[in-house]
Amino acid sequence: MAYRIFLQTFGCQMNEYDSELVRSLLKARGFAFTEDQEEADVILMNTCAIREHAHNRVFSHLAKLKTLKRQRNLVVGVLGCMAQNLKTELTETQPLVDVLVGPDGYRRLPDLLISAIEHQAKGLAVDLSEYETYEQILPDRAAGVNAWIAVMRGCDNFCTFCVVPYTRGRERSRNPEGIIEEAQELAGRGYKQITLLGQNVNSYQYGTWDFARLITAVADVPGIQRVRFTSPHPKDFPPALLDAVAGHPHICRQIHLPVQSGNNRVLAGMGRCYTRKEYVGLVDNIRRRADIALSTDIISGFCGETENEYMDTYGLVQEIEYHSAFIFKYSERKNTIAARKYPDDVPEPVKSQRVTRLVELQKTISVRKNMALLGETVHVLVEGNAKKSRDQWMGHTESNVTVVWEKNHTATQPGDFVSIQVTDATASTLYGTPVSPFPLKGVEKRNSLVSKCLGP
Ligand code: SF4
Repeated sequence: MAYRIFLQTFGCQMNEYDSELVRSLLKARGFAFTEDQEEADVILMNTCAIREHAHNRVFSHLAKLKTLKRQRNLVVGVLGCMAQNLKTELTETQPLVDVLVGPDGYRRLPDLLISAIEHQAKGLAVDLSEYETYEQILPDRAAGVNAWIAVMRGCDNFCTFCVVPYTRGRERSRNPEGIIEEAQELAGRGYKQITLLGQNVNSYQYGTWDFARLITAVADVPGIQRVRFTSPHPKDFPPALLDAVAGHPHICRQIHLPVQSGNNRVLAGMGRCYTRKEYVGLVDNIRRRADIALSTDIISGFCGETENEYMDTYGLVQEIEYHSAFIFKYSERKNTIAARKYPDDVPEPVKSQRVTRLVELQKTISVRKNMALLGETVHVLVEGNAKKSRDQWMGHTESNVTVVWEKNHTATQPGDFVSIQVTDATASTLYGTPVSPFPLKGVEKRNSLVSKCLGP
């Protein structure tokens, strides 16, 4: 009988994608997967080291597995960024962990698991590679509407707070041929939306192919209706990429543009390589070209951040008015430049209070933007059941706002594009009712983020 694996994924979309690669590699060697931890022979955690919260969840999960491991034969594996960054700590303090595999070691995972199961051997694969891009491994994806494709791995930017260059190594880009074939395969299976992933996605470079050329080629694949990407670095956002976003009918007019801080001293301390003025100039440039929705990442309470410096970030959020923002308090990550160079000296209650104030500010901006859509018609890709009710559909607009509506039209199915008239809005969700023509079978009606409602 095949050994059964229970795989749990923490962290970002890149980790979700890596878990799909892991599934593919293990299935090819005869392993089976189970959703039930109780019947698994192997429990794998694909971990994230970027924030303290994900890190703590993994340690508390490991603590719970101790009992399970005492009761029966069980192999426990830690994969991903924590395995890479905390290999010594995990080896020394977590004897229940049998296998540690970093993001560049997944090809070795099947052999390591077989040795652990059959010979109780501990296994380690934590060497970073300059070349590994998992070319020719087609991720094992569940059927659906949205898919991710990693187009490059690693990061050379070394922002001082960030652990990624140490856990995922140096930048390397995939052959565009393999990426386009993957997009064609997805289109053939009915996927409508692809998100191109990379830690520093706009630095994609393979021979003469840059990211603007790559995203255009993916958006040209017949059947793919929406292409998104995450995350670009503001310091090198090329004009050709903006041309592609503003001009291609299948590239979403939505950009996630991490700012991290609105204060020049803090930006310099973070090693972000742009000033507030340069960032605002880029935003102005983007907005002059087209109606493009912007979201961002912000860190509050970075080393030495004063109240005045924090208020610069607060003022920037007021000025730019993002559609949405991911706001986190700074948490020192082992082995980063900031951990070695600067004291983590903003008190925890101050960090928390600064995050709360920014979250409240962003909420009011998001509510205002979403309320402005009341009575308008938005075009939505149907993705599946709403989280709270199977009697409702859920999808997203081109600008990536969640939309929820009642299932009152039997012909609708995931993958359709529908027109929804907005009747209510919160900071994160639009609610509405379908309008005719309905649904837009497989083709997105597009040209503007929103069209005036002409009535049903
Ligand atoms: S660009 Fe900076 S924040 Fe982003 S992954 Fe690279 S080092 Fe980390």
